[in-house]
Amino acid sequence: MKYLGIEPNKPRVAVFDFTSCEGCELQFANKEETLVDFLGSIEVVEFREISSDRSEDYDIAFIEGSVTRSDEIERLLKIRERAKVLVALGACACFGGVNRLKNAFDLNDANQEVYGDCPKETLPTRAIHEVVKVDLKIPGCPVCKDEVERIVQHLVWDIPFQFPAYPVCLECKQRYTVCVCDLDSKEAHSEKRGELCLGPITQGGCNAPCPAGGLGCWGCRGPAEDANVESFLTIAKERGFGKREIAERFEFFGGFEGLK
Ligand code: SF4
Ligand code: SF4
Ligand code: SF4
Repeated sequence: MKYLGIEPNKPRVAVFDFTSCEGCELQFANKEETLVDFLGSIEVVEFREISSDRSEDYDIAFIEGSVTRSDEIERLLKIRERAKVLVALGACACFGGVNRLKNAFDLNDANQEVYGDCPKETLPTRAIHEVVKVDLKIPGCPVCKDEVERIVQHLVWDIPFQFPAYPVCLECKQRYTVCVCDLDSKEAHSEKRGELCLGPITQGGCNAPCPAGGLGCWGCRGPAEDANVESFLTIAKERGFGKREIAERFEFFGGFEGLK
């Protein structure tokens, strides 16, 4: 039996970066306590951040980052041709991520602002699935190392992976975090209360680190299954959050584009 077209033993894995901060790749390479076991279940044939090895022969290609230059399109098409399974790794690859924010501006102005008199080629930001077929998307900014490891094991052992159907709110409650958008708890828990939080409509799986740190969720994992965006917007407006503030939150990682 095959899953996503690969045999269940030591797949040849390559990791590639496009326009990104390389933070998702770093998640692959860190967490020493599980790294040896993790790397023992796959054969890494190309991964610039940890090795100088190069290969054009791989089963699974993990793609970090979004597409913002013409040479990236060419490179991505070649990777797609070679890979049996192509995985979008992180918010940039899945949605365009923070790079997508530039699409709201005139690209020449954005170029001038960043590079001054030395402009660089820059195209409107695109997620990987907007350029080639993607077999699997692993969201997050950055991705969660635990989740990536579980997904890779599912690929190795040929078992379909199910992302959580529940939103971030559930994990937030599970770890006993006091809700950061609960206006009623304002006095008891300092000035941090009353935050806008996309937790009710964002896909779980990150274990809600942002609310635990006193911040609202910014939706880096994209919408939860059956997210009730309409109710969320109604409640957010009732609580005094403005249209612009909500729109900025929805646009930040690109996963909620078109839902506001
Ligand atoms: S998703 Fe976030 S951590 Fe990953 S490459 Fe993009 S900006 Fe960096
Ligand atoms: S802080 Fe956010 S994620 Fe946590 S319970 Fe409140 S709304 Fe949900
Ligand atoms: S709480 Fe929200 S913004 Fe923070 S990691 Fe989870 S999904 Fe991303």
